[in-house]
Amino acid sequence: MVTTMEKTAEKATEKKMRKIAIYGKGGIGKSTTTQNTVAALAEQGNRIMVVGCDPKADSTRLLLGGLAQRSVLDTLREEGEDVELEDIRTGGFCDSMCVESGGPEPGVGCAGRGIITSINMLEQLGAYEKEENLDYVFYDVLGDVVCGGFAMPIREGKAEEIYIVCSGEMMAMYAANNIAKGILKFAQTGVVRLGGLICNSRNCDRESEMIEEFARRLGTKMIHFVPRDNDVQRAEINRKTVIDWNPDCPQAEEYRELARKIDENEMRVIPTPMEIEELEGLLMEFGLFK
Ligand code: ADP
Ligand code: MG
Repeated sequence: MVTTMEKTAEKATEKKMRKIAIYGKGGIGKSTTTQNTVAALAEQGNRIMVVGCDPKADSTRLLLGGLAQRSVLDTLREEGEDVELEDIRTGGFCDSMCVESGGPEPGVGCAGRGIITSINMLEQLGAYEKEENLDYVFYDVLGDVVCGGFAMPIREGKAEEIYIVCSGEMMAMYAANNIAKGILKFAQTGVVRLGGLICNSRNCDRESEMIEEFARRLGTKMIHFVPRDNDVQRAEINRKTVIDWNPDCPQAEEYRELARKIDENEMRVIPTPMEIEELEGLLMEFGLFK
């Protein structure tokens, strides 16, 4: 007879850690969306690590209640190589674990190096080991250009599943298309796949319809349409995710739905990026250039 305990153990070994990266144009809402999604998944009992891969090091402040976390690069600069996991990883909302890569001093060196250094350090210190029981790791990566260090999570298979945050604004779609090109390039020889587009609304005309069509052309789907809502700012000024600040407001429910859709999503594709003319055609078709 198989006991419940054995079944649970079996399930635990079957369960694979999901390695997700969130890409998108600067300012599009990656950090906000990532942290709210993580908050929703964490309140469901998932064990999650968030790795901020933006030199701005603002990927985890809402999960940490505004605490300015010392970045991995700063820690290494100040303490040398002899660091422990707890020196670079801080507990946040619902036991989420927060890491900020950080960046070089302004004007010196490649900003992407921080990501490479941090991920290598986390690996060395055992942050991804089975004993850590992670259900998810999220990388919040700036992605106007998928170059150098910023491509590292997808180039080296650190992230296997990419979600692109975009809106109906032309430059956001342009950046999303470029990111799809980057994924295509590395998918041919590696494990990385596109999981979907997250539309973070800018209240453009026919935005949801257009992003659904954009997603279809890229060979993927719009996983969720996140409305623009001032509760995001209200929560932010209180240094919290919306879910933490006001768990009952409609925007909190939107993020829970996004999290549920990601949790259930099994679609992983090699994207089919668009030609720039085709992308402009799509924007015209949806009435932005009348
Ligand atoms: P990124 O990480 O892509 O650079 P952020 O997550 O920092 O972008 O978001 C930029 C700003 O946009 C934030 O100050 C945030 O308050 C705002 N924002 C993001 N998503 C929403 C939304 N759905 N509704 C309202 N404001 C939003
Ligand atoms: Mg950010």
